[in-house]
Amino acid sequence: MSSHLYPITDRMLPREAKESLLEQRGGVVWLYGLSGSGKSTIALQLERQLHDEGKLVKLLDGDNIRTGLNKNLGFSDEDRAENIRRIAEVAKLFVDSGMLVLASFITPTNALRHQAREIIGSDDLLEVYVQASYETCAERDPKGLYQKVKDGQVAQFTGKDSSFEEPTQADLTLATESLSVEEACAQLHMAIGQHFQK
Ligand code: ADP
Repeated sequence: MSSHLYPITDRMLPREAKESLLEQRGGVVWLYGLSGSGKSTIALQLERQLHDEGKLVKLLDGDNIRTGLNKNLGFSDEDRAENIRRIAEVAKLFVDSGMLVLASFITPTNALRHQAREIIGSDDLLEVYVQASYETCAERDPKGLYQKVKDGQVAQFTGKDSSFEEPTQADLTLATESLSVEEACAQLHMAIGQHFQK
């Protein structure tokens, strides 16, 4: 199969050309944590803030990935791995176009986080653990999912019958039980500035 591929990558405009057009450095901010921990709240606020600062940002999350590109995938271990693999590959394509990607996905295991890091590369990745306990997330229940779990309507739910591992190599941890949304966003904004300095 690969012998029939005739790569043109070496003749494509390089990433640097896109980055200088946009006057920014591309990179991926990968936010992970339990459902309800605060990933989308933080990602949405950061997307607006960075956009207002003149950055081209793309937010990837379950809404635009699981309903399209990955709509054939479920929540088995195999499908979760394929889900993350595709998201990381897509994020990498955006980075090659000089864009900043905010990826907001539960990413429940260290193996999955490692897989994303392998694909994207450490230089281009800021790994952010959005931390809140299962109990806090269940209390917040922004999507009503925890109630559905209690009622037995959701299978393979992360933190309940599907495991969530504490991270071993997050670049930043945002403890959303003790930080306000504004404080969490300010910390992340600073980390993005430091990590993706041109
Ligand atoms: P996720 O995307 O991780 O599933 P959401 O962002 O949809 O989670 O929901 C998180 C909930 O927690 C929201 O209702 C949000 O207002 C609340 N919340 C409280 N404190 C914080 C914080 N510091 N950061 C983010 N969200 C917070």
